[in-house]
Amino acid sequence: MNIIIFGPPGAGKGTQSEFIVKTFNLFKLSTGDLLRKEIDKQTPLGLKITSIVNAGSLVSDDIINSLIEKIVSNKDYEKKIIFDGYPRNLSQAKNLNKLLLKDKQKIDIVIRLKVSLDVIKKRITGRLICSKCGKTFNKFFSPPPINIECCKNEFLQKREDDNVDVAIKRFETYVESTEPVLNFYKKMNLVKDLNGEMDIDSIQGKIRDYLAVIEGWLCKITPYKYIF
Ligand SMILES: [Zn+2]
Repeated sequence: MNIIIFGPPGAGKGTQSEFIVKTFNLFKLSTGDLLRKEIDKQTPLGLKITSIVNAGSLVSDDIINSLIEKIVSNKDYEKKIIFDGYPRNLSQAKNLNKLLLKDKQKIDIVIRLKVSLDVIKKRITGRLICSKCGKTFNKFFSPPPINIECCKNEFLQKREDDNVDVAIKRFETYVESTEPVLNFYKKMNLVKDLNGEMDIDSIQGKIRDYLAVIEGWLCKITPYKYIF
């Protein structure tokens, strides 16, 4: 099964894709990782990417697509990919379709985590880290317990990169760029919307249900349901 996961920055996409990777033994394809790997390996393409990035330009669709092609055509990852942060625009989406078709593969489901900008703002501005034990909290959603020695107010710090303006900008960019891509997959009847504002366990339960059907796990699970 191949999956695409969408969600604005701060929607918890990382956590959920990690869960999917572990539960369903998939390979997570993130374009950021692919680019970094190529840069580290200092391949001819890696050096080209370095110079593009250093010049402050965006890496072209052609380069991204050729990196994606290497993974999609690799038999080790056949029907085992979760795409995170790709496709980012309509031309990438169409290209991905072509690449998958060539290998007799397809996208089985597109999961969209829906989270409002308001909640994302609170997730960012409310984030607190205890300087003593390193635990993280959120003053709106998961405040530190009151009757505890550690994690008192004087130890709680905000993270430095917790910048709301940046988050708003990223959210707007996300909405703008993924809208056409989502419409493309909606026409293929592949998009499942999930409320990303639920707690992590509930979201994981929903995702597991969706993916179990695709994987044909349902027939194995159903009998036990009756026992309980
Ligand atoms: Zn603490």
